[in-house]
Amino acid sequence: MKVLVVEDEKKLAGFMRKGLEDHGFAVTVSHHGDEAYALALHESFDLIVLDIMLPGRDGISILKNLRERKIPVPVILVTARSEANERVEGLNLGADDYLAKPFFINELLARIHAVLRRSAGCHISLLQAGNLTVNLMTREVRRGESDLFLSPREFSLLEYLMRSPGRVFTRAQILEHVWGYGFDPETNLVDVCIRRLRAKVDDRPGESRIETVRGVGYRFQPQDSR
Ligand code: CA
Repeated sequence: MKVLVVEDEKKLAGFMRKGLEDHGFAVTVSHHGDEAYALALHESFDLIVLDIMLPGRDGISILKNLRERKIPVPVILVTARSEANERVEGLNLGADDYLAKPFFINELLARIHAVLRRSAGCHISLLQAGNLTVNLMTREVRRGESDLFLSPREFSLLEYLMRSPGRVFTRAQILEHVWGYGFDPETNLVDVCIRRLRAKVDDRPGESRIETVRGVGYRFQPQDSR
């Protein structure tokens, strides 16, 4: 899940980045309203955490402009105690929720999970392939009768691939979605994580559920080919 955190207080932004990354989100941080708006327009995020008072374009304008352009990305506004009016305005403009400062990271995580659940609507909460099941709500992964213990990154990677079985993802796409920006595309992070994931999710070595597409990237085996 890719989250854009827009917050000009660097310390707070860093604290949010760390908290979200620790829970498996790929985080992009922007400290400036104009930059954040450009990012929101040109990249696809699963959710935006948006401060109101910002240098450049303020959070309310960003939200308004995104909604005018029919960009439906879920938005959680982060407001100061004194910003009750902006909070209401934001909700009227199509913010999905708000969080008043100061807050604990667990509150932010709870809001994010609730908003993502809502925005997913009746979408799948269980991914399944053969005897492998991934519960996106509880984050439990089972292979047959065994519980598998995946790191947050491994979980995100598996989820990303399993959501589109048969679709080939390049290393760059995987890096961007699972790790976020700021990584050298030449890094072997993806390959290392795939190797660890295979060791956990596959029944037999040599018959991986995660197929290497030579020169391109990886894909999750469509079920009917197994
Ligand atoms: Ca601010």
